[in-house]
Amino acid sequence: MKLGTKLIHAGVEPDPSTGAIMTPIFQTSTYVQAAPGDHKGYEYARTQNPTRDALQKALAAIENGNHGICFGSGLAATDAIMKLLAPGDEVVASSDLYGGTFRIFTKVFAKYGIRFQFVDLQDAAQLKQYLNAATKLVWIETPTNPMLNIIDIAACSAIAREKGVLLAVDNTFASPYLQNPLDLGADIVVHSATKYLGGHSDVVHGAVIVKDDALAQQLAFIQNSCGAVPGPQDCFLVLRGIKTLHVRMQRHCENGEAVARFLRAHPKVDKVYWCGFEDHPNHGIAKKQMRGFGGMISFTLKDDSMDAALRVLSGTRLFSLAESLGGVESLIGHPASMTHASIPREERLKNGLTDSLIRLSVGIEDVEDLVADLKKAIG
Ligand SMILES: *Cc1c(COP(=O)(O)O)cnc(C)c1O
Repeated sequence: MKLGTKLIHAGVEPDPSTGAIMTPIFQTSTYVQAAPGDHKGYEYARTQNPTRDALQKALAAIENGNHGICFGSGLAATDAIMKLLAPGDEVVASSDLYGGTFRIFTKVFAKYGIRFQFVDLQDAAQLKQYLNAATKLVWIETPTNPMLNIIDIAACSAIAREKGVLLAVDNTFASPYLQNPLDLGADIVVHSATKYLGGHSDVVHGAVIVKDDALAQQLAFIQNSCGAVPGPQDCFLVLRGIKTLHVRMQRHCENGEAVARFLRAHPKVDKVYWCGFEDHPNHGIAKKQMRGFGGMISFTLKDDSMDAALRVLSGTRLFSLAESLGGVESLIGHPASMTHASIPREERLKNGLTDSLIRLSVGIEDVEDLVADLKKAIG
């Protein structure tokens, strides 16, 4: 089955009791048993919920995995993956990470004796020298946030596999429409479904997808034992969002390209970060592992003062100034003070994340209107 068909049909069956074509929102905490232990596979809603089950099956199918495990947010999904580890274990992570991921690693799990190394993995061969007997997990994000760097998933996977280390890929930015890390050898895919999967800026949700049965069992154990489960209404919203992922992503890609090329040609714009440019340092890898380049763009102005950036940030009307990304509407953000404020300034600057960097999540509006909005704000 091809992706567009899977997005609409995977995991979803007409409701057996009514024939409802849409999976009902099973807003219940428990399930009645005919006799002790005599039940229909559902005992208590932290452990199992039919709406969540449908979504978990859909997620597994669209990432070409065997198991989907859902959580109350993207960071709750990350939290569950980290709980696979024990004190003394080491993690090698790519250095240009979502701010909240950096924070949970350094402020929460470091305290429990897990050690982290943050490494620029744009050259995947670098990975080898950081792996040792204590390394249990490699964590990458690609494209990276907000610098839109590309990391070679297959190359990282080959190195990690040789050492028996798990590779986790945060696939939030690409979505399964553009990239399937499990097909490239990753062991674990993590999503903030709050973004492109949900797609409508109306839900906070996270997911982990794996192929391996034993790994899935451990993650389901953590999901149930720690309890960061999503509610059924949120699962319903993500399930609904997924059905139009291909149509939305196609437009995000088209609009993203038009906006990136407009910015690059603008005399007041300095650097434009978008992995679809032929001269992007890792464009070749992007072309190899992705089916398109998405709608996330970062840029700086020739006037690199904070003031100039703030004028653009407050000058747009269609691009709303807000954190988050991946919804149908366009957003503009300032990583240094918003999404990445939890990363120390020196750490940020090392990755090129300057105070004047502006990030766009290009939505699916008519692109002529989006370009006109930016033109007016940049001046
Ligand atoms: C938003 C985001 C997260 C965190 O997800 P939440 O749903 O906000 O908890 C993780 N990774 C990336 C790349 C994100 O954009």
